[in-house]
Amino acid sequence: MKTDFDVLIVGGGPVGLLLACLLKQKGLSFRVLEKRARPKSHSAAIGITPPSLQILNKLGLTDSFISAGIKVSDCYVHGQSGLLGCMAFRQIPDQHPFVLALPQVTTMALLQKHLGAEFIETGCEVHEVQSLTDNCIVRVEKREWTAKYVVACDGWRSRVREGIGMRAPSHTYDSHFIMGDFIDRSGFGDAAHLFFTATGAVESFPLPGGQRRWVVQTDKALGDSPAGRISELIHQRTSIQVPVEDQINESAFTPRRFNCDRYYDGRIILCGDAAHGMSPIGGQGMNTGFADAEFLAEILTHSDPASLLPAYNRFRQKAAKAAIVRAEWGMWFGTRRGRPQSALRDHLLRFLLSRDSITKRLGSFYAMLTIPFNTLDRVPLSSLRTHIV
Ligand SMILES: Cc1cc2nc3c(=O)[nH]c(=O)nc-3n(C[C@H](O)[C@H](O)[C@H](O)COP(=O)(O)OP(=O)(O)OC[C@H]3O[C@@H](n4cnc5c(N)ncnc54)[C@H](O)[C@@H]3O)c2cc1C
Repeated sequence: MKTDFDVLIVGGGPVGLLLACLLKQKGLSFRVLEKRARPKSHSAAIGITPPSLQILNKLGLTDSFISAGIKVSDCYVHGQSGLLGCMAFRQIPDQHPFVLALPQVTTMALLQKHLGAEFIETGCEVHEVQSLTDNCIVRVEKREWTAKYVVACDGWRSRVREGIGMRAPSHTYDSHFIMGDFIDRSGFGDAAHLFFTATGAVESFPLPGGQRRWVVQTDKALGDSPAGRISELIHQRTSIQVPVEDQINESAFTPRRFNCDRYYDGRIILCGDAAHGMSPIGGQGMNTGFADAEFLAEILTHSDPASLLPAYNRFRQKAAKAAIVRAEWGMWFGTRRGRPQSALRDHLLRFLLSRDSITKRLGSFYAMLTIPFNTLDRVPLSSLRTHIV
């Protein structure tokens, strides 16, 4: 059956844009439908892990990403009793032995530039998607398009997911954070610093352009926090002065997790945050979505993509589950408060971080090298073939 496009992508966030770039490279006809008229100015994700850099390499984009970002090779861990050790990404067994710090807005801008504006319909909010036997129909106010497949990259509140009645039972954690980007006068250079204290966690990451992100645990969810709250909490917990005049932006978040029962229904496929959600503490959500996009781009070019959707479901759901559990565990460990818990954590971390073999493994763990099927190269081809026949 003739359709307007091979694929329609709902949502032009980082995952939708990456998928679009990969489909363009493979010669498929597609459009990205994005409800925003202008990109968001505030960044969520800042950490791009080595498996994602490998995926970007397929598009020849790794160098431009690396030159726009900051290579974080060292992550210093502090506890109540002072510096506990350093987790060195420089030792990890990968051609990119670092986590790249790059604001999500820049990631999106680079992907958009590579893709070309003609492939994105902005100010285009999708109201309804219907999956029929041979095609899908996408409705946007008074217009409609047809495509062989629709990929929902419309984020954790996914309207497409809701529309097809896909279950995504979620759990909201009892941990809350505020974060802000500041002009960086910390003297920390390109290193990340984590402070796990008895009164709450503080995390600090370098950003390009002489900025630094500070993420601070709070007692409760803060909608509008009083000006200077982040600086005040940083100072109370770490004695570091981060002047409020240097603050550029601020936002609050309460992490949650979910992993959809199924990642597709008929010809409608979920990808990125539309399919799964995890605590941002650990920085894996976007990276997990990038690996979904890589997998999907591959199977959408197959002569019979529908036969491979069960494999997409199986491998990507497993990978997301691993990332969700790790993010949850990492957040739980870093946010325990109180003197006894803090002393115990300090002991354990000091022990672990004093052993080279363990810091190397921790580096691989946090760089997502040990997430199952984190790139398509690591999906057993024999399993894929069983779905092809
Ligand atoms: C504080 C914070 C820090 C984070 N740090 C990291 C990190 O360091 N590393 C990491 O990997 N992840 C991180 N994440 C997670 C990361 O931000 C998300 O996983 C990522 O944004 C998901 O991308 P996405 O494209 O799937 O969805 P989104 O970014 O949510 O994009 C969805 C897009 O769909 C559009 N849309 C929605 N509905 C419609 C509709 N009906 N019609 C058309 N368009 C629609 C939206 O406007 C949006 O542009 C962080 C998250 C937070 C909150």
